[in-house]
Amino acid sequence: MPERSVAELLELDRRHVWHPYGPVPGRQEPLVVESASGVRLRLADGSGELVDGMSSWWSAIHGYNHPVLNEAARGQLERMSHVMFGGLTHEPAVRLAKLLVDMSPDGLEHVFLADSGSVSVEVAVKMCLQYWRSLGRPEKRRLLTWRGGYHGDTWQPMSVCDPEGGMHELWSGVLPRQVFADAPPAGYEEEYAEHLRSTVERHAGELAAVIVEPVVQGAGGMRFHSPAYLRVLREACDAHGVLLVFDEIATGFGRTGALFAAEHAAVTPDVMCVGKALTGGYLTMAATLCTARVAEGISRGEVPVLAHGPTFMGNPLAAAVACASVELLLGQDWRAEVERIEAGLREGLAPAAGLSGVRDVRVLGAIGVVQLDHAVDMRAATEAAVREGVWLRPFRDLIYTMPPYVTGDADVARIARAVCAAAKEG
Ligand code: PLP
Repeated sequence: MPERSVAELLELDRRHVWHPYGPVPGRQEPLVVESASGVRLRLADGSGELVDGMSSWWSAIHGYNHPVLNEAARGQLERMSHVMFGGLTHEPAVRLAKLLVDMSPDGLEHVFLADSGSVSVEVAVKMCLQYWRSLGRPEKRRLLTWRGGYHGDTWQPMSVCDPEGGMHELWSGVLPRQVFADAPPAGYEEEYAEHLRSTVERHAGELAAVIVEPVVQGAGGMRFHSPAYLRVLREACDAHGVLLVFDEIATGFGRTGALFAAEHAAVTPDVMCVGKALTGGYLTMAATLCTARVAEGISRGEVPVLAHGPTFMGNPLAAAVACASVELLLGQDWRAEVERIEAGLREGLAPAAGLSGVRDVRVLGAIGVVQLDHAVDMRAATEAAVREGVWLRPFRDLIYTMPPYVTGDADVARIARAVCAAAKEG
């Protein structure tokens, strides 16, 4: 492998590489990461390490370079890195499906192993539309969601993201037309619950499903909602013949203090998407789970198979690491770790509430958010965090963190200081 200097890497990056939501290559200056271990990212320019306050976008819950996950990847690599999943199966995929079914809300029984969160949402939507087609109700093909959500960057997920001022505003008018309910208020309000019920009822004839991020809307605005609305949705969906999909891609695997956010409301959805932390952030894999009712409905149709089969579905390497990550999580007192981080973030972010320009400070599980009353100056905020030795990725009016669960108390305090500094300067 040719040795390249940091300057050469950056020059090639500028010339050729497109980053997520990045401009045309050539107009961005990313930091070059050389390696990562525990909760630290080592920078290639020799300037040292940054504590990762982002868990690589909610995924690296066990930190980086974890010996157990490394061993799972190495062991599987020696046996089989990939094999097609059509007509073949293998132990890592079967074991992972069983683990997911056992740990998920009761009633979810069938697992489709996809290759990214966005695709797992596409699969969820296809499951719901196919279910109704199979039952002779093809007109039930729209989705209802509440405003302010984020479900991914492919076509169907984009259609249920925040329609106003969101990341996909560019595509309004082109995307499938969905139904949007108002975003939930901060607490529980019966008036809003009634709005949800009546919106489901009014559109039930054309609705295949309601899809929401339970309890926490992530990339759409880092909003926290009362779990009671999930029960309202469950009842309304049952009453009016609509399926319920929970997108737990960001919230799953303990992030909100429950294994899945659905547990805060003791509600089982008909379909559930997980991803991100599924492989501990090591490899790209996501999953769509559904109930026997949904699977049996699909199998009664003219096309009695789920019409989806990506090349890298059920990738054994990713599945083996996912099994190790899930077992690692369940084998420890993860709840205590998340509670510890929650307490640290509450204490460390409290001073942000007194800063001018700060509208709100909120913490839930291992998620801490400072919301400004203006659009954040991303460069100034990021640089302020880096000066504190922390990696953050602010967006819109938000400076937030969701650190790995293995982040020690001193590093949690450091992350909180960095969030406050970013809020001051951003
Ligand atoms: N759904 C939610 C709730 C997410 O937060 C994300 C990613 O941020 C996605 C779906 C899309 O997942 P991916 O980026 O793996 O495609």
